[in-house]
Amino acid sequence: MVKIKNFINGELVAPESNEYIDNYDPSTGTVYSLIPDSDERDVNFAVEAAKKAFRTWSVTPAPHRSKILLKISELIEKNLEALAKAETIDNGKPLWLAKSVDIPRASENFRFYGTGILHFASESHAMEDSALNYTLRTPIGVAGCISPWNLPLYLFTWKIVPAIAVGNTVVAKPSEITPMTAFLLAEICIEAGLPPGVLNIVHGYGHKVGSAITAHPDIPIISFTGGTKTGETIAKTTAPMFKKLSLELGGKNPNIVFADCDLYKAVRTSVRASFTNQGEICLCGSRIFIEKNIYEIFKEKFLKETEKMIVGDPFDDKNKLGAIVSKQHYDKILQYIHLAKEEGGMILKGGKSIHPEGRCSNGWFIEPAIIENLPFDCRTNQEEIFGPVVTLTPFETEEEVLLYANSTKYGLAALLFTENLNKAHRVAAKLQSGIVWVNCWLLRDLRTPFGGVKRSGMGREGGFEAFKFFTEEKNICIKF
Ligand code: NDP
Repeated sequence: MVKIKNFINGELVAPESNEYIDNYDPSTGTVYSLIPDSDERDVNFAVEAAKKAFRTWSVTPAPHRSKILLKISELIEKNLEALAKAETIDNGKPLWLAKSVDIPRASENFRFYGTGILHFASESHAMEDSALNYTLRTPIGVAGCISPWNLPLYLFTWKIVPAIAVGNTVVAKPSEITPMTAFLLAEICIEAGLPPGVLNIVHGYGHKVGSAITAHPDIPIISFTGGTKTGETIAKTTAPMFKKLSLELGGKNPNIVFADCDLYKAVRTSVRASFTNQGEICLCGSRIFIEKNIYEIFKEKFLKETEKMIVGDPFDDKNKLGAIVSKQHYDKILQYIHLAKEEGGMILKGGKSIHPEGRCSNGWFIEPAIIENLPFDCRTNQEEIFGPVVTLTPFETEEEVLLYANSTKYGLAALLFTENLNKAHRVAAKLQSGIVWVNCWLLRDLRTPFGGVKRSGMGREGGFEAFKFFTEEKNICIKF
Protein backbone atom coordinates (compact mmCIF):
# COMPACT_ATOMS: atom_id res chain seq x y z
CA MET A 1 0.00 0.00 0.00
CA VAL A 2 1.32 3.47 -0.94
CA LYS A 3 2.60 5.46 2.01
CA ILE A 4 2.29 9.17 1.33
CA LYS A 5 5.24 11.24 2.54
CA ASN A 6 5.69 14.76 3.77
CA PHE A 7 7.70 17.14 1.58
CA ILE A 8 10.14 19.04 3.76
CA ASN A 9 13.28 20.88 2.69
CA GLY A 10 13.08 19.35 -0.79
CA GLU A 11 12.85 15.76 0.47
CA LEU A 12 10.05 13.24 0.81
CA VAL A 13 10.10 12.16 4.43
CA ALA A 14 8.10 10.07 6.91
CA PRO A 15 6.34 11.84 9.78
CA GLU A 16 8.20 12.10 13.06
CA SER A 17 5.51 10.01 14.77
CA ASN A 18 5.88 7.24 12.20
CA GLU A 19 2.11 6.89 12.50
CA TYR A 20 -0.26 6.85 9.52
CA ILE A 21 -3.94 7.55 8.86
CA ASP A 22 -6.05 5.38 6.56
CA ASN A 23 -6.87 6.98 3.22
CA TYR A 24 -10.15 5.82 1.65
CA ASP A 25 -11.29 5.43 -1.92
CA PRO A 26 -14.88 6.72 -1.50
CA SER A 27 -16.12 4.90 -4.59
CA THR A 28 -15.35 1.52 -3.00
CA GLY A 29 -15.32 2.44 0.69
CA THR A 30 -11.92 0.78 1.13
CA VAL A 31 -8.53 1.96 2.40
CA TYR A 32 -6.06 2.25 -0.46
CA SER A 33 -3.16 4.30 0.92
CA LEU A 34 -1.74 5.74 4.12
CA ILE A 35 -1.36 9.39 5.10
CA PRO A 36 1.33 10.66 7.49
CA ASP A 37 -0.15 11.47 10.89
CA SER A 38 2.14 14.46 11.29
CA ASP A 39 2.27 16.80 14.23
CA GLU A 40 3.87 19.99 15.53
CA ARG A 41 7.38 18.52 15.19
CA ASP A 42 6.97 18.08 11.42
CA VAL A 43 5.52 21.58 11.11
CA ASN A 44 8.51 22.98 13.04
CA PHE A 45 10.96 21.27 10.67
CA ALA A 46 9.01 22.59 7.69
CA VAL A 47 9.03 26.14 9.08
CA GLU A 48 12.78 26.02 9.69
CA ALA A 49 13.34 24.84 6.10
CA ALA A 50 11.00 27.52 4.76
CA LYS A 51 12.70 30.27 6.79
CA LYS A 52 16.11 29.23 5.45
CA ALA A 53 14.84 29.06 1.86
CA PHE A 54 13.19 32.49 2.20
CA ARG A 55 16.61 34.16 2.47
CA THR A 56 17.46 33.23 -1.12
CA TRP A 57 14.03 32.71 -2.73
CA SER A 58 12.80 36.17 -1.69
CA VAL A 59 15.66 37.80 -3.61
CA THR A 60 15.62 35.40 -6.57
CA PRO A 61 14.70 37.50 -9.64
CA ALA A 62 11.08 37.14 -10.74
CA PRO A 63 12.01 35.77 -14.21
CA HIS A 64 13.86 32.90 -12.55
CA ARG A 65 10.97 32.12 -10.20
CA SER A 66 8.66 32.31 -13.19
CA LYS A 67 10.73 29.80 -15.15
CA ILE A 68 10.44 27.18 -12.40
CA LEU A 69 6.69 27.73 -11.99
CA LEU A 70 6.19 27.32 -15.73
CA LYS A 71 8.20 24.12 -15.67
CA ILE A 72 5.91 22.76 -12.92
CA SER A 73 2.88 23.76 -15.02
CA GLU A 74 4.31 21.82 -17.95
CA LEU A 75 5.00 18.75 -15.84
CA ILE A 76 1.45 18.78 -14.45
CA GLU A 77 0.18 18.76 -18.03
CA LYS A 78 2.53 15.96 -18.93
CA ASN A 79 1.26 13.91 -15.97
CA LEU A 80 -2.40 14.82 -16.48
CA GLU A 81 -3.63 11.23 -16.81
CA ALA A 82 -1.90 10.00 -13.66
CA LEU A 83 -2.88 13.06 -11.62
CA ALA A 84 -6.52 12.90 -12.75
CA LYS A 85 -6.70 9.21 -11.90
CA ALA A 86 -5.21 9.90 -8.46
CA GLU A 87 -7.72 12.72 -7.86
CA THR A 88 -10.63 10.50 -8.84
CA ILE A 89 -9.59 7.65 -6.55
CA ASP A 90 -8.96 10.03 -3.65
CA ASN A 91 -12.03 12.24 -3.99
CA GLY A 92 -14.65 10.14 -5.80
CA LYS A 93 -15.21 12.73 -8.54
CA PRO A 94 -15.72 11.52 -12.13
CA LEU A 95 -12.50 10.98 -14.03
CA TRP A 96 -13.74 13.09 -16.96
CA LEU A 97 -14.16 16.03 -14.54
CA ALA A 98 -10.72 15.62 -12.99
CA LYS A 99 -9.25 15.46 -16.49
CA SER A 100 -11.14 18.43 -17.88
CA VAL A 101 -11.25 20.76 -14.86
CA ASP A 102 -9.22 19.91 -11.76
CA ILE A 103 -5.85 19.03 -13.22
CA PRO A 104 -5.85 21.51 -16.16
CA ARG A 105 -6.79 24.24 -13.68
CA ALA A 106 -3.94 23.27 -11.36
CA SER A 107 -1.55 23.54 -14.28
CA GLU A 108 -3.16 26.85 -15.30
CA ASN A 109 -2.67 28.22 -11.77
CA PHE A 110 1.09 27.74 -12.17
CA ARG A 111 1.04 29.25 -15.67
CA PHE A 112 -1.18 32.17 -14.69
CA TYR A 113 0.79 33.23 -11.62
CA GLY A 114 4.11 32.19 -13.17
CA THR A 115 3.56 34.68 -15.99
CA GLY A 116 1.61 37.18 -13.85
CA ILE A 117 4.62 37.77 -11.65
CA LEU A 118 6.47 39.15 -14.67
CA HIS A 119 3.83 41.88 -14.96
CA PHE A 120 3.25 42.72 -11.31
CA ALA A 121 4.11 46.36 -10.78
CA SER A 122 3.48 48.97 -8.12
CA GLU A 123 1.94 52.43 -8.18
CA SER A 124 3.57 55.81 -7.82
CA HIS A 125 1.84 59.05 -6.84
CA ALA A 126 3.44 62.35 -7.74
CA MET A 127 2.58 65.32 -5.48
CA GLU A 128 2.82 67.98 -8.16
CA ASP A 129 6.38 69.27 -8.03
CA SER A 130 7.09 68.65 -4.33
CA ALA A 131 7.36 64.90 -3.76
CA LEU A 132 6.94 61.44 -5.16
CA ASN A 133 5.34 58.48 -3.40
CA TYR A 134 5.86 54.94 -4.53
CA THR A 135 4.69 51.62 -3.15
CA LEU A 136 7.22 48.96 -2.45
CA ARG A 137 5.80 45.43 -2.30
CA THR A 138 7.96 42.80 -0.68
CA PRO A 139 7.38 39.13 0.16
CA ILE A 140 6.37 38.56 3.76
CA GLY A 141 8.10 35.35 4.84
CA VAL A 142 6.75 31.88 5.47
CA ALA A 143 3.11 31.61 4.37
CA GLY A 144 0.77 28.97 5.81
CA CYS A 145 -1.66 27.57 3.23
CA ILE A 146 -4.48 25.20 4.18
CA SER A 147 -6.91 23.76 1.64
CA PRO A 148 -10.05 21.55 1.53
CA TRP A 149 -10.98 18.26 -0.13
CA ASN A 150 -13.50 19.23 -2.79
CA LEU A 151 -11.12 20.43 -5.52
CA PRO A 152 -7.92 19.11 -4.01
CA LEU A 153 -5.05 20.02 -6.35
CA TYR A 154 -6.91 22.90 -7.95
CA LEU A 155 -7.46 24.79 -4.66
CA PHE A 156 -4.13 23.75 -3.16
CA THR A 157 -2.28 25.31 -6.10
CA TRP A 158 -4.60 28.35 -6.14
CA LYS A 159 -2.97 29.33 -2.82
CA ILE A 160 0.58 28.11 -2.88
CA VAL A 161 1.45 29.41 -6.36
CA PRO A 162 0.82 33.16 -5.85
CA ALA A 163 2.53 32.86 -2.45
CA ILE A 164 5.77 31.50 -3.90
CA ALA A 165 5.51 33.49 -7.14
CA VAL A 166 6.02 36.76 -5.21
CA GLY A 167 8.94 35.34 -3.22
CA ASN A 168 7.45 33.85 -0.07
CA THR A 169 8.13 30.31 1.01
CA VAL A 170 5.29 28.06 2.08
CA VAL A 171 4.26 25.46 4.64
CA ALA A 172 1.08 23.89 3.30
CA LYS A 173 -1.44 21.32 4.42
CA PRO A 174 -3.87 19.71 1.98
CA SER A 175 -7.01 18.14 3.39
CA GLU A 176 -6.25 14.89 5.13
CA ILE A 177 -9.22 13.43 3.21
CA THR A 178 -7.62 14.02 -0.22
CA PRO A 179 -3.82 14.25 0.09
CA MET A 180 -2.67 12.20 -2.92
CA THR A 181 -2.26 14.81 -5.65
CA ALA A 182 -0.38 17.17 -3.30
CA PHE A 183 2.02 14.28 -2.69
CA LEU A 184 2.44 13.78 -6.44
CA LEU A 185 2.94 17.52 -6.85
CA ALA A 186 5.89 17.31 -4.45
CA GLU A 187 7.56 14.82 -6.81
CA ILE A 188 6.91 17.19 -9.71
CA CYS A 189 8.43 20.12 -7.80
CA ILE A 190 11.61 18.11 -7.21
CA GLU A 191 11.79 17.26 -10.93
CA ALA A 192 11.22 20.91 -11.87
CA GLY A 193 14.11 22.05 -9.69
CA LEU A 194 12.15 24.06 -7.12
CA PRO A 195 14.82 24.89 -4.49
CA PRO A 196 14.53 22.93 -1.21
CA GLY A 197 12.33 24.56 1.42
CA VAL A 198 10.41 26.87 -0.95
CA LEU A 199 7.36 24.62 -0.75
CA ASN A 200 6.89 22.30 2.21
CA ILE A 201 3.86 20.01 2.47
CA VAL A 202 2.92 18.53 5.82
CA HIS A 203 0.10 15.97 5.75
CA GLY A 204 -2.22 15.11 8.60
CA TYR A 205 -5.21 16.20 10.62
CA GLY A 206 -6.45 19.76 10.79
CA HIS A 207 -6.53 19.83 14.58
CA LYS A 208 -2.84 18.80 14.70
CA VAL A 209 -1.01 20.01 11.59
CA GLY A 210 -3.49 22.74 10.63
CA SER A 211 -3.54 24.28 14.08
CA ALA A 212 0.26 24.00 14.44
CA ILE A 213 0.59 25.99 11.19
CA THR A 214 -1.92 28.67 12.15
CA ALA A 215 -0.44 29.09 15.66
CA HIS A 216 3.22 29.07 14.61
CA PRO A 217 4.90 32.36 15.62
CA ASP A 218 7.16 32.31 12.54
CA ILE A 219 4.28 32.08 10.06
CA PRO A 220 2.98 35.66 9.75
CA ILE A 221 0.43 35.04 7.00
CA ILE A 222 -2.29 32.42 6.55
CA SER A 223 -4.42 31.61 3.54
CA PHE A 224 -7.24 29.21 4.34
CA THR A 225 -10.03 27.67 2.28
CA GLY A 226 -12.55 25.46 4.06
CA GLY A 227 -15.59 25.50 6.29
CA THR A 228 -16.84 28.60 8.15
CA LYS A 229 -16.53 26.91 11.55
CA THR A 230 -12.84 26.10 10.93
CA GLY A 231 -12.36 29.65 9.64
CA GLU A 232 -13.69 30.92 12.97
CA THR A 233 -11.20 28.77 14.92
CA ILE A 234 -8.35 30.02 12.75
CA ALA A 235 -9.42 33.66 13.13
CA LYS A 236 -9.45 33.23 16.94
CA THR A 237 -5.90 31.88 16.89
CA THR A 238 -4.42 34.34 14.42
CA ALA A 239 -6.12 37.61 15.45
CA PRO A 240 -4.18 38.14 18.71
CA MET A 241 -0.99 37.29 16.80
CA PHE A 242 -1.84 39.99 14.21
CA LYS A 243 -1.32 37.61 11.32
CA LYS A 244 -2.39 38.56 7.84
CA LEU A 245 -5.36 36.34 7.07
CA SER A 246 -7.38 35.35 4.03
CA LEU A 247 -10.43 33.16 4.56
CA GLU A 248 -12.39 31.52 1.75
CA LEU A 249 -15.28 29.82 3.54
CA GLY A 250 -18.65 28.14 3.06
CA GLY A 251 -21.64 29.18 1.01
CA LYS A 252 -25.37 28.66 0.52
CA ASN A 253 -25.67 30.22 -2.88
CA PRO A 254 -28.94 31.46 -4.36
CA ASN A 255 -29.90 30.84 -7.97
CA ILE A 256 -32.59 33.26 -9.16
CA VAL A 257 -34.59 32.42 -12.28
CA PHE A 258 -36.74 35.26 -13.63
CA ALA A 259 -39.67 34.56 -15.98
CA ASP A 260 -37.98 36.54 -18.76
CA CYS A 261 -34.97 34.21 -18.85
CA ASP A 262 -33.88 31.96 -21.68
CA LEU A 263 -35.53 28.92 -20.13
CA TYR A 264 -33.46 26.31 -21.94
CA LYS A 265 -30.20 27.97 -20.84
CA ALA A 266 -31.47 28.54 -17.30
CA VAL A 267 -32.47 24.91 -16.82
CA ARG A 268 -29.30 23.40 -18.26
CA THR A 269 -27.01 25.77 -16.38
CA SER A 270 -28.95 25.35 -13.13
CA VAL A 271 -28.64 21.57 -13.27
CA ARG A 272 -24.90 21.89 -13.77
CA ALA A 273 -24.64 24.49 -10.99
CA SER A 274 -26.59 22.22 -8.66
CA PHE A 275 -24.90 18.88 -9.10
CA THR A 276 -21.43 19.18 -10.66
CA ASN A 277 -18.81 17.44 -8.51
CA GLN A 278 -21.70 15.89 -6.50
CA GLY A 279 -22.68 19.42 -5.43
CA GLU A 280 -19.38 19.63 -3.57
CA ILE A 281 -18.26 22.98 -4.99
CA CYS A 282 -18.44 26.02 -2.75
CA LEU A 283 -19.91 27.91 -5.75
CA CYS A 284 -22.81 25.52 -6.45
CA GLY A 285 -26.26 27.12 -6.36
CA SER A 286 -28.27 25.15 -3.82
CA ARG A 287 -31.34 27.38 -3.38
CA ILE A 288 -33.21 27.89 -6.64
CA PHE A 289 -35.78 30.69 -6.62
CA ILE A 290 -38.12 30.68 -9.61
CA GLU A 291 -40.56 33.41 -10.62
CA LYS A 292 -44.04 32.08 -9.92
CA ASN A 293 -45.47 32.17 -13.44
CA ILE A 294 -42.76 29.84 -14.79
CA TYR A 295 -42.37 27.74 -11.63
CA GLU A 296 -44.19 24.65 -12.94
CA ILE A 297 -42.60 24.63 -16.38
CA PHE A 298 -39.11 25.23 -14.92
CA LYS A 299 -39.67 22.45 -12.39
CA GLU A 300 -40.79 20.00 -15.06
CA LYS A 301 -37.79 20.73 -17.29
CA PHE A 302 -35.35 20.79 -14.36
CA LEU A 303 -36.54 17.35 -13.21
CA LYS A 304 -36.21 16.01 -16.73
CA GLU A 305 -32.72 17.44 -17.25
CA THR A 306 -31.60 15.98 -13.90
CA GLU A 307 -32.34 12.50 -15.26
CA LYS A 308 -29.13 12.90 -17.27
CA MET A 309 -27.17 13.18 -14.04
CA ILE A 310 -26.37 9.49 -13.78
CA VAL A 311 -24.57 8.50 -10.59
CA GLY A 312 -22.03 5.69 -10.42
CA ASP A 313 -18.46 4.50 -10.86
CA PRO A 314 -16.36 7.66 -11.35
CA PHE A 315 -14.15 5.79 -13.81
CA ASP A 316 -17.10 5.24 -16.17
CA ASP A 317 -17.38 8.28 -18.45
CA LYS A 318 -21.14 7.93 -18.87
CA ASN A 319 -21.62 8.85 -15.20
CA LYS A 320 -22.03 12.51 -14.44
CA LEU A 321 -21.74 12.20 -10.65
CA GLY A 322 -19.31 10.05 -8.69
CA ALA A 323 -18.99 9.20 -5.01
CA ILE A 324 -19.37 11.49 -1.99
CA VAL A 325 -15.92 12.21 -0.60
CA SER A 326 -16.16 10.42 2.78
CA LYS A 327 -18.49 8.30 4.88
CA GLN A 328 -18.80 11.17 7.36
CA HIS A 329 -19.86 13.62 4.66
CA TYR A 330 -22.21 11.07 3.07
CA ASP A 331 -23.96 10.61 6.45
CA LYS A 332 -24.19 14.39 6.88
CA ILE A 333 -25.88 14.85 3.49
CA LEU A 334 -28.39 12.04 4.16
CA GLN A 335 -29.19 13.60 7.55
CA TYR A 336 -29.94 16.91 5.82
CA ILE A 337 -32.28 15.17 3.37
CA HIS A 338 -34.03 13.64 6.36
CA LEU A 339 -34.21 17.06 8.02
CA ALA A 340 -35.74 18.53 4.86
CA LYS A 341 -38.58 15.99 5.10
CA GLU A 342 -39.07 16.77 8.79
CA GLU A 343 -39.30 20.46 7.92
CA GLY A 344 -42.15 19.71 5.51
CA GLY A 345 -40.16 19.46 2.29
CA MET A 346 -41.42 17.34 -0.55
CA ILE A 347 -38.70 15.27 -2.26
CA LEU A 348 -39.53 15.54 -5.96
CA LYS A 349 -36.67 13.36 -7.04
CA GLY A 350 -33.65 11.44 -5.69
CA GLY A 351 -32.11 11.85 -2.27
CA LYS A 352 -31.51 8.16 -1.66
CA SER A 353 -28.21 6.39 -1.29
CA ILE A 354 -27.19 4.24 -4.22
CA HIS A 355 -25.20 1.01 -4.35
CA PRO A 356 -24.01 0.58 -7.93
CA GLU A 357 -23.43 -2.96 -9.07
CA GLY A 358 -19.85 -4.19 -9.31
CA ARG A 359 -16.70 -2.73 -7.79
CA CYS A 360 -18.47 0.33 -6.33
CA SER A 361 -21.22 -1.50 -4.42
CA ASN A 362 -19.78 -0.43 -1.03
CA GLY A 363 -19.02 3.15 -2.09
CA TRP A 364 -20.77 6.30 -0.85
CA PHE A 365 -23.16 7.47 -3.56
CA ILE A 366 -26.26 9.69 -3.34
CA GLU A 367 -28.83 10.44 -6.07
CA PRO A 368 -29.25 14.18 -6.77
CA ALA A 369 -32.09 15.42 -4.58
CA ILE A 370 -34.66 18.05 -5.62
CA ILE A 371 -36.88 19.35 -2.84
CA GLU A 372 -39.78 21.82 -2.81
CA ASN A 373 -42.28 23.26 -0.38
CA LEU A 374 -39.80 24.59 2.15
CA PRO A 375 -39.82 28.09 3.68
CA PHE A 376 -36.80 30.21 2.79
CA ASP A 377 -35.74 30.50 6.43
CA CYS A 378 -35.82 26.83 7.46
CA ARG A 379 -32.56 25.05 8.34
CA THR A 380 -32.42 23.17 5.02
CA ASN A 381 -32.46 26.52 3.24
CA GLN A 382 -30.06 28.27 5.61
CA GLU A 383 -27.29 25.77 6.38
CA GLU A 384 -24.59 24.59 3.99
CA ILE A 385 -25.16 20.97 2.93
CA PHE A 386 -22.38 20.79 0.33
CA GLY A 387 -23.86 17.86 -1.56
CA PRO A 388 -26.20 17.05 -4.47
CA VAL A 389 -29.23 18.66 -2.82
CA VAL A 390 -31.25 21.64 -4.09
CA THR A 391 -34.50 23.28 -3.09
CA LEU A 392 -37.00 24.95 -5.42
CA THR A 393 -38.96 27.97 -4.16
CA PRO A 394 -41.36 30.25 -6.08
CA PHE A 395 -41.31 34.05 -5.75
CA GLU A 396 -43.40 36.92 -7.10
CA THR A 397 -41.39 40.14 -6.85
CA GLU A 398 -37.79 41.31 -6.99
CA GLU A 399 -38.00 42.56 -3.39
CA GLU A 400 -39.23 39.17 -2.22
CA VAL A 401 -36.51 37.19 -3.98
CA LEU A 402 -33.79 39.54 -2.74
CA LEU A 403 -35.05 38.98 0.80
CA TYR A 404 -34.86 35.21 0.28
CA ALA A 405 -31.49 35.29 -1.47
CA ASN A 406 -29.83 37.54 1.12
CA SER A 407 -31.36 35.79 4.14
CA THR A 408 -28.48 33.43 4.96
CA LYS A 409 -25.33 34.16 6.94
CA TYR A 410 -23.32 33.36 3.79
CA GLY A 411 -22.46 35.45 0.73
CA LEU A 412 -20.11 33.64 -1.60
CA ALA A 413 -21.72 33.37 -5.03
CA ALA A 414 -25.10 33.92 -6.70
CA LEU A 415 -26.60 33.10 -10.08
CA LEU A 416 -29.34 34.96 -11.87
CA PHE A 417 -31.13 34.32 -15.11
CA THR A 418 -32.90 37.08 -17.03
CA GLU A 419 -32.77 38.52 -20.54
CA ASN A 420 -33.52 41.99 -19.17
CA LEU A 421 -30.24 43.89 -18.87
CA ASN A 422 -31.57 46.54 -16.50
CA LYS A 423 -32.91 43.91 -14.16
CA ALA A 424 -29.64 41.98 -14.28
CA HIS A 425 -27.63 45.04 -13.21
CA ARG A 426 -30.17 46.11 -10.59
CA VAL A 427 -30.48 42.72 -8.91
CA ALA A 428 -26.77 41.83 -9.18
CA ALA A 429 -25.87 45.05 -7.34
CA LYS A 430 -28.28 44.22 -4.50
CA LEU A 431 -27.19 40.62 -3.96
CA GLN A 432 -25.00 40.19 -0.87
CA SER A 433 -22.40 38.09 -2.59
CA GLY A 434 -18.76 38.14 -3.64
CA ILE A 435 -19.54 36.82 -7.13
CA VAL A 436 -22.68 37.08 -9.27
CA TRP A 437 -23.03 35.02 -12.43
CA VAL A 438 -25.65 36.30 -14.88
CA ASN A 439 -26.91 33.69 -17.38
CA CYS A 440 -23.90 31.48 -16.66
CA TRP A 441 -22.08 29.63 -13.92
CA LEU A 442 -18.47 28.93 -13.04
CA LEU A 443 -17.21 31.06 -15.88
CA ARG A 444 -13.89 32.02 -14.34
CA ASP A 445 -11.40 34.62 -15.40
CA LEU A 446 -8.40 34.18 -13.11
CA ARG A 447 -7.72 37.94 -13.13
CA THR A 448 -10.92 38.73 -11.21
CA PRO A 449 -11.14 39.16 -7.43
CA PHE A 450 -12.42 35.97 -5.81
CA GLY A 451 -13.98 35.71 -2.36
CA GLY A 452 -17.09 36.02 -0.27
CA VAL A 453 -18.89 38.43 2.04
CA LYS A 454 -20.54 37.87 5.43
CA ARG A 455 -19.56 34.46 6.81
CA SER A 456 -18.29 33.24 3.45
CA GLY A 457 -14.94 34.79 4.03
CA MET A 458 -12.58 37.65 4.39
CA GLY A 459 -10.25 39.14 1.79
CA ARG A 460 -9.93 38.42 -1.91
CA GLU A 461 -7.73 36.07 -3.88
CA GLY A 462 -7.23 35.76 -7.64
CA GLY A 463 -5.25 37.91 -10.06
CA PHE A 464 -3.16 40.70 -8.59
CA GLU A 465 -5.34 40.58 -5.47
CA ALA A 466 -3.48 37.40 -4.52
CA PHE A 467 -0.09 39.03 -5.14
CA LYS A 468 -1.15 41.98 -3.00
CA PHE A 469 -2.28 39.67 -0.21
CA PHE A 470 0.99 37.76 -0.22
CA THR A 471 3.17 40.91 -0.10
CA GLU A 472 3.70 43.66 2.43
CA GLU A 473 3.15 47.20 1.14
CA LYS A 474 5.31 50.11 2.08
CA ASN A 475 4.77 53.69 0.94
CA ILE A 476 7.98 55.61 0.33
CA CYS A 477 7.65 59.37 0.08
CA ILE A 478 10.56 61.32 -1.38
CA LYS A 479 10.55 65.11 -1.13
CA PHE A 480 12.31 66.91 -3.93
P1 NDP B 1 -12.72 22.07 6.70
O1 NDP B 1 -12.85 23.43 7.28
O2 NDP B 1 -13.16 20.93 7.53
O3 NDP B 1 -11.19 21.76 6.35
C1 NDP B 1 -10.41 22.57 5.49
C2 NDP B 1 -8.95 22.37 5.83
O4 NDP B 1 -8.69 22.88 7.13
C3 NDP B 1 -8.52 20.91 5.85
O5 NDP B 1 -7.22 20.81 5.37
C4 NDP B 1 -8.62 20.59 7.32
O6 NDP B 1 -7.88 19.47 7.71
C5 NDP B 1 -8.08 21.88 7.93
N1 NDP B 1 -8.44 22.09 9.32
C6 NDP B 1 -9.44 21.51 10.04
N2 NDP B 1 -9.42 21.97 11.33
C7 NDP B 1 -8.40 22.87 11.40
C8 NDP B 1 -7.89 23.71 12.45
N3 NDP B 1 -8.40 23.70 13.68
N4 NDP B 1 -6.86 24.51 12.17
C9 NDP B 1 -6.33 24.56 10.92
N5 NDP B 1 -6.76 23.78 9.90
C10 NDP B 1 -7.78 22.96 10.13
O7 NDP B 1 -13.42 22.10 5.29
P2 NDP B 1 -13.66 20.88 4.32
O8 NDP B 1 -12.34 20.25 3.99
O9 NDP B 1 -14.75 20.05 4.88
O10 NDP B 1 -14.15 21.63 2.99
C11 NDP B 1 -15.47 21.96 2.74
C12 NDP B 1 -15.73 23.41 3.08
O11 NDP B 1 -14.87 24.24 2.33
C13 NDP B 1 -17.14 23.83 2.70
O12 NDP B 1 -17.67 24.60 3.74
C14 NDP B 1 -16.93 24.68 1.46
O13 NDP B 1 -17.92 25.63 1.24
C15 NDP B 1 -15.62 25.30 1.75
N6 NDP B 1 -14.99 25.77 0.53
C16 NDP B 1 -14.90 27.10 0.29
C17 NDP B 1 -14.37 27.58 -0.89
C18 NDP B 1 -14.24 29.04 -1.14
O14 NDP B 1 -13.52 29.40 -2.07
N7 NDP B 1 -14.89 29.91 -0.40
C19 NDP B 1 -13.89 26.66 -1.93
C20 NDP B 1 -14.02 25.27 -1.57
C21 NDP B 1 -14.55 24.86 -0.38
P3 NDP B 1 -8.64 18.05 7.85
O15 NDP B 1 -8.95 17.62 6.48
O16 NDP B 1 -7.67 17.17 8.51
O17 NDP B 1 -9.83 18.31 8.69
